Amino acid sequence: MSKYVRQRGGKTLKNGDIVLNYHCCRSGTYKPKEKGVKSLKSQGSAKIGISCPAIVKVRYSTENVVVQYFPNHKNHENELEHLRLSESDRAAVAEQRQSGKDYGLKDEDFVLIIMTDFQKEIITKYGKDKICIDGTHGLNSYDFNLYSVVVVDEHKNGIPVAFCFSNKSSEVVFRIYFSAIKNDVDIIETTTFMTDDAPGFYNASSYVMGTVKNVLLCAWHVTRNWHQNLNKIKNPEKRKIVNKALKT
Ligand SMILES: [Zn+2]
Repeated sequence: MSKYVRQRGGKTLKNGDIVLNYHCCRSGTYKPKEKGVKSLKSQGSAKIGISCPAIVKVRYSTENVVVQYFPNHKNHENELEHLRLSESDRAAVAEQRQSGKDYGLKDEDFVLIIMTDFQKEIITKYGKDKICIDGTHGLNSYDFNLYSVVVVDEHKNGIPVAFCFSNKSSEVVFRIYFSAIKNDVDIIETTTFMTDDAPGFYNASSYVMGTVKNVLLCAWHVTRNWHQNLNKIKNPEKRKIVNKALKT
């Protein structure tokens, strides 16, 4: 298991895209923040003194997010005590280590959660009304999934407020996802939770953020499911008729 941290702020390119690099948290040298004030932790510094090439590069524009993952570590072992995990992440790891069930994360598993300062503002502003979560599967040859939490503004525009990339599609990953959001913006007490038909999203959300009054199947998913099934109708004339009937 590895943790990746951002060592400096994002870089904005000429075309407006934002680039964020997450380095292996063991990479580099330990720099005391203020001399004498903060002593080294009992397990010693997590830094190995030289760089580790493992890195996650994220580039996002208004249209898409591109993630490049270089998973090969060098110059160190992976010890859990050197990973600076948040309280809830540590609990999730401890829990899945204990449970021995096959939903646990393995060494090669990958979870990346992204929420920008702008997104934190937006979820705080609009999240109380409605939260929608959606997953896109198998984005690339590594079979990564992209999960997005989306809120709706006053003009009914859906705005993604947090992304999660993972090779896993399990409730544990969704719990880590919602815990990360909670750690950043506190509990979002929303009125309506919209999701596709996978129950894992709501189970994880209610575990972390508490139960929600209204749990709805995303209208968008209903439409999409219709269209997916429409394509099964081979006869184009029949398909047209069914499509027309569904829209009214
Ligand atoms: Zn490393």
